[in-house]
Amino acid sequence: MALVVQKYGGTSVGTTEKIKNVARRVARTKDAGNDVVVVISAMAGETDRLIGLAHELSELPDEREMDLLLSSGERASAALLAIALRELGYPARSFTGRQAGFITDGAHTKARIKKIEAKNVLDALKEGMIAVVAGFQGVDELSHDVTTLGRGGSDTTAVALAAGLNADVCEIYTDVTGVFTADPRIVPEARKLKAVSFEEMLEMASAGAKVLQVRSVEIGMKYNIPIHVRSTFSEEEGTMVVPANKDMEDVVVSGVTYDKNQAKITVVGVPDRPGIAKALFDPIAEANINVDMIIQNVSQDGLTDISFTVARTELPKAIKVIENVVKEIGAQKFITDDTIAKVSIVGVGMRSHPGVAATMFDALADEGINIIMISTSEIKVSCVIEDKYLELAVRALHRAFELDKEGS
Ligand code: ADP
Ligand code: ASP
Ligand code: MG
Repeated sequence: MALVVQKYGGTSVGTTEKIKNVARRVARTKDAGNDVVVVISAMAGETDRLIGLAHELSELPDEREMDLLLSSGERASAALLAIALRELGYPARSFTGRQAGFITDGAHTKARIKKIEAKNVLDALKEGMIAVVAGFQGVDELSHDVTTLGRGGSDTTAVALAAGLNADVCEIYTDVTGVFTADPRIVPEARKLKAVSFEEMLEMASAGAKVLQVRSVEIGMKYNIPIHVRSTFSEEEGTMVVPANKDMEDVVVSGVTYDKNQAKITVVGVPDRPGIAKALFDPIAEANINVDMIIQNVSQDGLTDISFTVARTELPKAIKVIENVVKEIGAQKFITDDTIAKVSIVGVGMRSHPGVAATMFDALADEGINIIMISTSEIKVSCVIEDKYLELAVRALHRAFELDKEGS
């Protein structure tokens, strides 16, 4: 008997009809003789709806309250799925993140899992039940407040639970048939990848491919949990996210990804002296805001400009911090830009193939797209551009690296 962890995303449970469909799918897995644990997301649009309500009341809603609010979406769908399963004649029990034993740190809205005390889930399995776990949430180990794991966090709930329970497989069911060479909604000729390495998937996810949350891939990689990304709506085999193997090394670029959730802050007229970067970025880190790219210009007359990017959703919070910092360090002013986006190419073969970045810059130049910032890692090149050119850029790069062709 195998232990299978399945996660169903928001669009897979968007209506009660779809919840019934998921229940039937879960039931088939149970009928095949497996123990089944299901992790469930909020119904499609529910998390955004709740965020919208909070923003009608406050520009910067308190993060502890946000977590309690947003966790309700997943709780509702978990209970609904358990109800649907029972209706089909399958004993099922739903759990909140706390009941499923997800203990996290206290970083509200993007908490990290510290440990999982899955006794309730294991007891349910022992009783022959299907366990249904509300994704995306846990409980702060110190304050016992409800926390959430960041947007897309149900993926992380699923992979972490698969690791904690030593599951045989973790299946991520979603609204596409796997991981593609680019978002198939933007590039219709994108190809589904049969397999992708943890390393590449990590870079793709951190560059914005939201098909898997970054942390879910980190956990899969750390605990060697193969992740099968596949469709809720078809039986088609999806994409296996697995340790790198030799065949994969041949591919120079395996995917193009994008991230619209980007904003740039430029601090102008910063005194160019030791300790300034620390004075600028420490308070941002203390506010738990992730900084992605950073550029410091050449200084003139002892003054320089420093630009950096943050998630657009975190811009209001970052502005609050920067307003104070600018005064403290004696900078002249700061400017923000929330009309940027990031486009990236990812591939393990880049390590041994020079000239990949140049091909990327050429392709963008051919479309008349200006590059605002660049960053590179061993297996990724990212460019910040104006967001209105994003889809054009993704398509142009997909063509330039011939990703529509088999074996590219
Ligand atoms: P779920 O609600 O199931 O968690 P998400 O919306 O979080 O689903 O993630 C699935 C979406 O990810 C797809 O609908 C697709 O538009 C997007 N996506 C972005 N990049 C990729 C990619 N490279 N391959 C597949 N899907 C991608
Ligand atoms: N419901 C949460 C979100 O929309 C978590 C998830 O779906 O994974 O981000
Ligand atoms: Mg998701």
